[in-house]
Amino acid sequence: MAVMITDSCINCDACIDECPVSAIASEGDSPRDDWEYTYVKPEKCIECVGHAEVPACAAACPTEGCIVWDMPYTAEFNDYYANSAEYVIGSSKKRGVLTPEVSPQTFRDDISIAARESREAVAV
Ligand code: SF4
Ligand code: SF4
Repeated sequence: MAVMITDSCINCDACIDECPVSAIASEGDSPRDDWEYTYVKPEKCIECVGHAEVPACAAACPTEGCIVWDMPYTAEFNDYYANSAEYVIGSSKKRGVLTPEVSPQTFRDDISIAARESREAVAV
């Protein structure tokens, strides 16, 4: 990842069209059946690196603190994502489940691991 949308989301969908890589799914399209909020697909999120100064989803969100940092989507955090109950990782026909080991994504190295572990709100 990635950023994560939390349960303070009001499902306004304002973030969805702002994402440069179509990583955000509305509540009705979430791969998590038990989840009632808009969902970021960590296997797609690039933290807007190369696209915007700050994550575009957070910049568009009207709910302060709703979008938080999660761990980098890299091989180092493969087990974290692969074993998570919070994510349902997507797959492709060619490559199978797109875990961080299979399909790592770029991330912002100026965001500390401590901030990510504590799921600090994305500042805009
Ligand atoms: S941080 Fe950027 S790439 Fe990731 S979900 Fe938000 S808008 Fe999409
Ligand atoms: S913009 Fe914020 S409140 Fe609206 S759907 Fe996205 S995360 Fe939820």
